[in-house]
Amino acid sequence: MGLQKHYDIAVIGSGIMGSSLAYFLSSFSNSKTILIEQTREIASHTSSRNTGKVHAPFLYNPLEKRLFSKAAFLGFDMLNDYCIQKSLPFKQDGVLEVATYDKGIDNLQKYLEWGYSNGLKKEELRFLWKDEVSRIEPNVRCMCAIYCSKDASVEYGSIARHLAEDSRKFGCHVSVETKVKRIKYRNNNIVIQTNKGAISVDYLINAAGGGAIDIAHNMGVANTYADLHFRGEYWHAPQEYHNLTKTSIYSVPKYPEYPFLDPHWIIRVDGRCEIGPNAVPVLSPYAYNWSDNLKGFQKIFEFTHTGIRKLLLDKQFLSLAGNELKSSFSKTMMINRVKEFLPQLKPSLFIQKGVSGIRSSLIDKSGKFVSDTMIVNKNNSLHVLNYNSPGATGALPMAAMIVDQLIRNGILSHDHTQNKSLWDIKKIADQMSV
Ligand SMILES: Cc1cc2nc3c(=O)[nH]c(=O)nc-3n(C[C@H](O)[C@H](O)[C@H](O)COP(=O)(O)OP(=O)(O)OC[C@H]3O[C@@H](n4cnc5c(N)ncnc54)[C@H](O)[C@@H]3O)c2cc1C
Repeated sequence: MGLQKHYDIAVIGSGIMGSSLAYFLSSFSNSKTILIEQTREIASHTSSRNTGKVHAPFLYNPLEKRLFSKAAFLGFDMLNDYCIQKSLPFKQDGVLEVATYDKGIDNLQKYLEWGYSNGLKKEELRFLWKDEVSRIEPNVRCMCAIYCSKDASVEYGSIARHLAEDSRKFGCHVSVETKVKRIKYRNNNIVIQTNKGAISVDYLINAAGGGAIDIAHNMGVANTYADLHFRGEYWHAPQEYHNLTKTSIYSVPKYPEYPFLDPHWIIRVDGRCEIGPNAVPVLSPYAYNWSDNLKGFQKIFEFTHTGIRKLLLDKQFLSLAGNELKSSFSKTMMINRVKEFLPQLKPSLFIQKGVSGIRSSLIDKSGKFVSDTMIVNKNNSLHVLNYNSPGATGALPMAAMIVDQLIRNGILSHDHTQNKSLWDIKKIADQMSV
């Protein structure tokens, strides 16, 4: 189907966020909606290139990461419901967060409190001393850990593709291979210039992931923020390691204010094991290899941004970024980061790289990484910015909250009796705002 000249609402980006938005927008509204995606496949970028975990919200400070914490908490049940409906895999396999150094113990205590404040129950999140860990996971070496049973594994790319397909069935126009080039205001409408021609819309939602800040800047939004991109790389573990642990193992992040978490031991939903991701600074949201990275060279001109300049003078940031770069070139260095808690691992046995994914983090004027997601409304547009981990976990509740706001503000015509979605979005939105 070709593009029509006018739509009531456009969503840019068909990742897990854009697809969730299109799903709710079209599930009980007769507004004319379009989901615009630049690539041929739905959700082919970050949403299909992540760790695939449904993260329980114990790593997130409820005061600083309010939206992410709420959304991650509610996302678990919603993803479970949707995967059951579509017969998609959803494996509640739990996670162990281990401390290998003294200060890590204090952090684990803090995570317990955050987890309980964010809604996890005592029986779902437990502190374990070294001996208890050894009984559960004899191959893991650590000082102590927390075990969370309410963590799961899924395949977010398939979930997003089903959501986009449902949206299409509910009446949304899903337009792939349609790249948004420029956006302008004309009279009361927004005109979106794409490679397939121009369309006008009454309202625009920007869910373009790694491209979101460029679209926001094009519309005069969030001008004081810039973004930096970090490639998360993975290594497949050989078959002989597939029964090394029962759960995925994460280690306490040493520098949570930066996007550099230490790589984890991951058990995927299909049972494959991997190590990753690191966070290698790259020049574009699509720099999956070093030659694609060169294509993003214009990014260097953005280094004049006040915040990025400050960050580039931050010695700790530079040293950590340097280590991440080294772990991109040296497999041994990457595997050794996980060997700290799984001492059996032999780097020489890892021979195949996994699929890498890129996170785009916002930097403010002071040179600090923005911690929570930012939802910015301006002139008939809404922008989902800094949408990083646990973004995939929280996409459904976050989208329900946004669509509910549009209804409350009279932007979206709706008929609740026609609700074709699995959920009562008003109830979800109310839970998000508590
Ligand atoms: C390495 C890594 C591991 C992660 N692990 C987890 C995890 O285990 N659990 C979890 O919850 N979260 C995880 N995350 C975070 C999660 O993957 C993201 O928060 C989420 O996928 C972001 O979804 P999105 O829809 O915003 O972006 P995307 O999936 O990137 O989708 C954005 C879409 O917009 C399209 N687009 C961009 N510009 C344009 C344009 N101009 N015109 C048209 N289309 C455009 C892109 O092609 C893309 O398809 C991880 C992230 C990374 C990088």
